Amino acid sequence: MDAVLRRRLQERQSQSRYRRRRTVASPQGREIQLNGRRVLQFCSNDYLGLANHPALVDAMQQTADRRGVGAGASHLVCGHSDIHHQLEQRLAAITGRDRALLFSTGYMANLGTVSALLGKGDHILEDRLNHASLLDAGLLSGARFQRFQHNSLDDLSRRLSKLPDDGQRLIVVDAVYSMDGDRAPLAELASLSAQHNAWLMADDAHGFGVLGEHGAGSAQEAGLDQQQLPVLMGTLGKAIGSFGAFVAGSETLIESLIQFARPYIYTTAMPPAVAAATLAALDLLETEAWRRQHLSSLITRFRTGAQALGLPLMASTTAIQPLLVGEEERALAISRDLEERGVLISAIRPPTVPQGTSRLRITLSAAHTEKDIDTLLEVLSEAWQPQHRSPQD
Ligand code: PMP
Repeated sequence: MDAVLRRRLQERQSQSRYRRRRTVASPQGREIQLNGRRVLQFCSNDYLGLANHPALVDAMQQTADRRGVGAGASHLVCGHSDIHHQLEQRLAAITGRDRALLFSTGYMANLGTVSALLGKGDHILEDRLNHASLLDAGLLSGARFQRFQHNSLDDLSRRLSKLPDDGQRLIVVDAVYSMDGDRAPLAELASLSAQHNAWLMADDAHGFGVLGEHGAGSAQEAGLDQQQLPVLMGTLGKAIGSFGAFVAGSETLIESLIQFARPYIYTTAMPPAVAAATLAALDLLETEAWRRQHLSSLITRFRTGAQALGLPLMASTTAIQPLLVGEEERALAISRDLEERGVLISAIRPPTVPQGTSRLRITLSAAHTEKDIDTLLEVLSEAWQPQHRSPQD
């Protein structure tokens, strides 16, 4: 076995696609401790800087004191606590949906939801750049699977028109694209889905907490109610600073997921203390609105500075601000150079992104200061030296 696996690993290495973990020895924040030194980081999804907020830490500690650590079982056996229940009710209220259902991770929420809604003979249409968990979900469901061109309503509409009448149809998009930072045209997608008798699902992993009034997310910002966008998924491990995920929608949708979503049914519930920390984070969405405002001003500061330096920005207005590099080796080389200069930014390569579009995925957070953005720009301009430039720069 090892000989076969070693060959596969060598192949991955020769393509400059080998993934390596880094071991962090500090809480999340603007700076993290890595290999014995502190580096300024622009690669976490802790967009609001809540992952190490004292209110979350306190809620978790107090709940662990009272309730212990493990949930002990799945939600349907005896792991569903009153704290989970309260969190589901809060998530439903925030998103303006009848009900919400907690999942242990976003990956599982996507697998569970799509495979519960569709089966053989149904149709699923996904944006080409959807998150891996949504693409895997489509495959797992057994439905007839199509990928449409990124954010192309024309391509999607053409494909919908050609579908046979039999079977359910589900359109699935990321509300904010995780590796590009751009956003799906949700309102137009909702009209198109109504026109073609298709259901619509949006994964708001990167919008929930950051976008919309009080951070209620992309659906709220686009003004889409439960009927227009019936399946809304959000995660809790990014802007919310905690862990887990949820799906929000009608009473019938949630009951169907409880009955049919296998990654919901057959997994241990998140620790109640995590649910309590999440509730504390949801309070902060309202009381610390400055976090979203500060993040928004940092995004503008970064884009203005990067434009002036001629850096290859992508069309994103969100906290995800990738710089397009192209080849894997070059993205890796720049990332290594930046790390030596004390700034951590991940190089994202295929198969996570399409061939030839390797990039540095910069993520900004309310934990950063204006000075951090200036340092980032300064270090980027030094690292973007001729040895890293491609002929087309
Ligand atoms: N959807 C999207 C768009 C994501 O970016 C991610 C996380 N990278 C997930 C789902 C999975 O969420 P989780 O990390 O909670 O499994």
